Order: sequence, then C-alpha cells, then structure tokens
Amino acid sequence: MIEKVAIIGAGISGLSFGYQLIKNNHHNFTIYESTSRCGGVISTHSDSKYLYEEGPNTFSISDKRTLQMINDLNLEIVYPLDSSKARYILRNNEPKNIPNSFFSFLTSDFISLTTKFKILKEVFNRKKPLNETESIYDFFERRFNKEFVEYLVNPFIAGTFSGNPKTLSIKHAFPKMYDFENEYKSITKGFIKSKKPPNQIKRSIISFKSGMEELIISLSKLLEKQICLNSKVISIDNVDSKFLLKISINNEIITRVYDKVVVTIPIHKLNELKLTDQDSNDLKNNIVIDYPPLSTITLSYKKKDIPLPINGFGLLVPEIEKKNILGVLYLSSMFDYRAPKDETLFTVFIGGSRQPSLASLSKKEIIKLVKTDLKSIYGIINQPVYVEHKYWPQSIPQYSLDYQNHLNSLKKIERNLNGLTFTGNYIGGISLENNILNAMKSANKLINYNYE
Ligand SMILES: Cc1cc2nc3c(=O)[nH]c(=O)nc-3n(C[C@H](O)[C@H](O)[C@H](O)COP(=O)(O)OP(=O)(O)OC[C@H]3O[C@@H](n4cnc5c(N)ncnc54)[C@H](O)[C@@H]3O)c2cc1C
Repeated sequence: MIEKVAIIGAGISGLSFGYQLIKNNHHNFTIYESTSRCGGVISTHSDSKYLYEEGPNTFSISDKRTLQMINDLNLEIVYPLDSSKARYILRNNEPKNIPNSFFSFLTSDFISLTTKFKILKEVFNRKKPLNETESIYDFFERRFNKEFVEYLVNPFIAGTFSGNPKTLSIKHAFPKMYDFENEYKSITKGFIKSKKPPNQIKRSIISFKSGMEELIISLSKLLEKQICLNSKVISIDNVDSKFLLKISINNEIITRVYDKVVVTIPIHKLNELKLTDQDSNDLKNNIVIDYPPLSTITLSYKKKDIPLPINGFGLLVPEIEKKNILGVLYLSSMFDYRAPKDETLFTVFIGGSRQPSLASLSKKEIIKLVKTDLKSIYGIINQPVYVEHKYWPQSIPQYSLDYQNHLNSLKKIERNLNGLTFTGNYIGGISLENNILNAMKSANKLINYNYE
C-alpha cells in the first residue's frame, strides 16, 4: 500500500517525482512549493518579439524514459535548426569550429599534432592518479595533456557547471569517465567496449514551441490536485515513524502528517529547513556546497549590425583566452521563432566559478564587459536593439573534491529518518535529464516498484 507522501519543491525534480507516482497510480501525495510558480530554475521569457530561456536552455535527452514522459504529457518536441550544428571554441581570439566526428577532429587544425598523438595513444596510458579524490583537470591532463584540458575540458566545464575543472571531482561530475578508466584502463576503450544502457536512445537536444516552460506547464496541469504553491516547508519532525511537517502558507503555519517525505530543494536552502532530529540537523548544517553566482545577458542585434553572420549552436571560451565571458548561445540560429527575422538573438554567460565577482556587478557594468568581448571576438560595435539581464546568486551545485563527505551526510540523514529521501541536482548529475531520471528512480524505490 502506498503511503501518504510529501514532496518538498516543485522544480523539475519534484514534478518528475510526482509524475512517476501518478504513472504508477499513486495519487496520495502533496507537492509543496515555496514560491508562486512551479519550475524552480526553469523559466522562459516570452513577449511579442522574443522567446528565450532565463535558466536551462539545453535539454539534452538520451533515454527512452524521458521521451516517454514527454509523450505522456502530449508535448510536441522542437528540434534545433540545421543552422545550429556548428559549435565553436575560442582560440587566439577567434571562434574555431569544433569538428563533430573523431576523424574530422584528428584531421582538423583545432589542436596540435602532439595532442592528437596523445588522444590516439590514450589506450596505452597506464599513469595512475596521484590521489583518490582527483579533479577533472588532473584526470584529463593525466590521460591526455594540458592543451586538451585547457582548450576542450575547461570551456566545456564553464558551459555546463559554470565551474572550474581544478575544483570539481571527476568521480562525481563525470562518473562514466571515471568508471571507464577503472574498468577498461582507458576512456577511449570504454567508449568502444562498454555496453549500451538498455534505455539509451540517440542523444538529441530538444525544446518546445513555447520554450522549456511548456514542460513545466504540462507537468503542473497533470499534478494540479497535488501542488500547493506559496507553501514553504519550515520544519520536519519525525514521531512514531511518521513525519510532521510545519508549513508556512501565506504567513499562517500549519502542521501536516506524512508517512514519507521527499526533499528536492537546493542544498543552499536546507539551512531554512529545520530537522528536529538533532544529529540529522547538525549533519545537514555541515553540508556546504558551492553554487557560484552567474549572470546571463540576452541581447538582440539587427543582422545588418553584425559584421559576420553568427550561425551555429554557440561559442565556449577557455579561461586561457582571458575574456570576461564564459560563452555565448546563438539562440536565433538554434530554434525558429525566437526573434524577428532581421535580428540575431543570443545569450552571454558571465561569472561562475571562474570569475564569480563579475556575475554580481551591476547590469550596466556587466553589459559593458560583455560588449567589450563581443567587439573583440565578433567585431560588433553597433548597439543592440534589446538587452536583458538575469542574475543567479546561486546557480549550479559544484561537485567538489570533498563531495563524497556531503553525500555520506545526506545518506546518514536518510538512515536516521527512515522514510525521508533526497533527490535533486546535487545527487547524480546536474542536467535536466539526470534530475528527471533520478527523481523517477527514487519514486520507484519509494513505491517498491521494480525499476531497472
Ligand atoms: C542558469 C542555469 C542554467 C542551466 N542550464 C542548463 C542547461 O542548459 N541544461 C541542463 O540540462 N541543465 C541546466 N541547468 C541545471 C538544471 O536546470 C537544474 O539542475 C535543474 O533545473 C534543477 O532542478 P531541481 O528541481 O532539482 O531544483 P530547483 O529548480 O532549484 O527546484 C527546487 C524548488 O524547491 C523550492 N523550494 C526551496 N525551498 C523550499 C521549501 N522550504 N519549501 C518548499 N519549496 C521550496 C524552490 O522554490 C524551487 O522551486 C541550469 C541551471 C541554471 C541555474
């Protein structure tokens, strides 16, 4: 028998958890969301001229179960335009096209001959890590070389984690690479020899006609009866194998009793949630995970005001290039109907772990820095016809070198408070698809459904 469940947080993790319960005919649950809307960091800006994402842009799917959820919700997928196939990395202040196949990569002039040899010889590399908690930087430098890390890994980490490869753990941020080395002694060999997971489908980047918010609206409709907005959970007390939740709803405190509790709120919000079990509360308060600040600037220019056509998916900027910006997404060449036909719309990222102080500057100062880089990289000197700024004071959790300690604390709290589960982007991957699959997996575990 399924018991009464409380889900705390209505971001993609909480909503996917609810979706999975309903899919398995379990309706006896409530999702509490502290703000007045669902979606968490997913938020689409839409007006009569522009459509763009303030949060996640790139929804990359490679698993049947994610696709099934989209189909169950009757959502129509929008795929990127052919014009977005090219991806760029800045090298010597010039956007260089990254070859999209292994062979074209080896024959391109993007990297040196030495690095190409290192890639080909990786299968024979038997160098061991210097310590158990190896960083992404050290792992790839050991398996390939410095150029590989500085021109490929560093910009990729800035574009995904807004992070720094020197402070992120390879084991937690890229478990597949870590496992490949352990099992096959080579990541190249791992890619060739490892078995395809049973639910794997061809990876594609997708969105929806009205942007990512469409996914949230559909999930919210499905979970309409279960969602309570403006409802902040402020404490969890466990008494006689039940959970007593204190919830602040429109400034009134109410108490509700549940059999199971699912926590999906970000770690940096955990300090606002009291656990009355002292040991668990102390463990929780000692979990400190960095979520670096990030700013995004979305700009639109008249096409005639841009010296070179900007076509492709986007540009990533390696730290070694010494720019203000982390990268640029070419929104109007990625999806149709995102900007007027005679304009080029793009989003620029600034800050993250690389230069956190830049993210927190004023809008005016950030725009100035962004324009300096756009002038130097693309030769843009004219003024944009549209500029918008979004500040994320705490963006993406960094899977730091001591991450295992934090995971151990979360596990210990789960053991102390039998029936309480954590799921969210701080466990098992930061991407939207990771969050969806991990939430489904936790939901299935909760209802003892045979998942794998
Ligand atoms: C700027 C940015 C860009 C990103 N880009 C991408 C991308 O391109 N591709 C990609 O795959 N991923 C991307 N990500 C990562 C991805 O978006 C996140 O990992 C994911 O959306 C997190 O979802 P979540 O539900 O775990 O957490 P959240 O979205 O943070 O949701 C948590 C919810 O809990 C609520 N809450 C907090 N405290 C309480 C409380 N006490 N009581 C009740 N409710 C509470 C919050 O209001 C929030 O709605 C990006 C993230 C950011 C910030």
